[in-house]
Amino acid sequence: MVSAESIDTAGLPQLIYRLLPELASPGECAVLSGRFPPTQFSKGAMLIHLAEGVSYELELTNTGSGVLLTGWAHADATTDCTRCTDIANIRLEAEVEAYYILDPDDAEIADHDDSAVFTKNGIIDLAEPILASLVYELPFTVLCRDDCAGLCPRCYANLNSEECSCSDIPDPSHPLAALRTLLPDITAE
Ligand SMILES: [Zn+2]
Ligand SMILES: [Zn+2]
Repeated sequence: MVSAESIDTAGLPQLIYRLLPELASPGECAVLSGRFPPTQFSKGAMLIHLAEGVSYELELTNTGSGVLLTGWAHADATTDCTRCTDIANIRLEAEVEAYYILDPDDAEIADHDDSAVFTKNGIIDLAEPILASLVYELPFTVLCRDDCAGLCPRCYANLNSEECSCSDIPDPSHPLAALRTLLPDITAE
């Protein structure tokens, strides 16, 4: 189970669902599908926009000791390309899983397992496990295209759309730049 700790959850949509009374008995099952509204969240320095929202297909089953949530979430996301900062599109498809303990007793809470969510009243927010699973699927780098050339480290020109002449000019900040002054000028005729 993925924890939602790594994401900034302020202002995120909620998808409230009542586990009770339908899922009160072992073996009871509910199937849910839908789409929740456009949102955005951040992960580290990355701001992820979900302009089309998130579609989901979920199943909730009372297993006897709790309610197991399983299913899938899909979203088309946009963020800044890690190399050039242009818009990068990424399709996120994530397996969603969570486990809810209905009406836990004190012993269960004390001996708690990180992956379980306790609910005294059976009200849960399905947006949390859905968004957490999408965050988990995010790669460390998102590129606008596989061969993104990035920005010139010296003049910050976007090398996908423009050329710069920085590579023709010696870099005065290079640690060995001072050595050049000691060498004969081999480019001179
Ligand atoms: Zn790029
Ligand atoms: Zn340059």
